[in-house]
Amino acid sequence: MISDIRYWEKKASEGRYAIPHFNVWNAEMLMGVIDAAEELRAPVIISFGTGFVGNTSFEDFSNMMVSMAKNASVPVILHWDHGRNMTILHNAVNHGMNSVMRDASALPYEQNVAEIKRCVDYFHAYNIPVEAELGHVGNETVYEEALADYEYTDPKVAKDFVERTGCDSLAIAIGNVHGVYSSEPKLAFDILEEVAKTVDVPLVLHGASGIGDEDIKKAISLGIAKINIHTELCQAAMEAINEHKDKPFLALQREVRKAIKERAMYKIKLFGDDGKADE
Ligand SMILES: [Zn+2]
Repeated sequence: MISDIRYWEKKASEGRYAIPHFNVWNAEMLMGVIDAAEELRAPVIISFGTGFVGNTSFEDFSNMMVSMAKNASVPVILHWDHGRNMTILHNAVNHGMNSVMRDASALPYEQNVAEIKRCVDYFHAYNIPVEAELGHVGNETVYEEALADYEYTDPKVAKDFVERTGCDSLAIAIGNVHGVYSSEPKLAFDILEEVAKTVDVPLVLHGASGIGDEDIKKAISLGIAKINIHTELCQAAMEAINEHKDKPFLALQREVRKAIKERAMYKIKLFGDDGKADE
């Protein structure tokens, strides 16, 4: 069934677990994630973003996302990830997404505030929650180089940001990056702790693929309530493709779906989200 992200993020925050956000942009990923969620009775977020439009037509694929979310036996949230402007978000909501992220984190602070506030004012009128980002989670590159001029979330302004924008959840930058980590991720847990103390909205961890299990558990214990996974689903798919490349495409496709399901199940259990659909 289609569900409200605010309800689950709040429950996750209070219950010290995290709701998983899986980027899905083809049938195998979408079906694999829903398979995992149903088997583990886990609420999940399925998410699309601009980075995938070169692979898949969102306007068509969204119909499958909405249909599978509706028919799923567990709560499913339909989310747009890293929305770059209002037009994109408008299109996402028009095609059934019931939660959006407006990422204005590359802009200077005051512009980020103004842009998120504008977005929140607009979408709250349609009962659509808005995630924002403070600090800047970079993209895949050489990790040590990314850290050299990394824009960490500033705990001193987090409260001001949340109060002035009215955002429903906050993505933070604590040394996490998108894509594959070229060396061991180093998360600044002190920043996470400080931010969690000062703001009362659920906190979100992007770029969580490749972050070790113990660090994930620690991040959850300190207040992360939503965790984004994309790269590891792609890696699981690639491993299945390599392992089963001699099989007919029909059989190979089923192996990919199964591999996605297994990786998603692993993350759901790690995040403590299993069984939560029935609580
Ligand atoms: Zn992200």
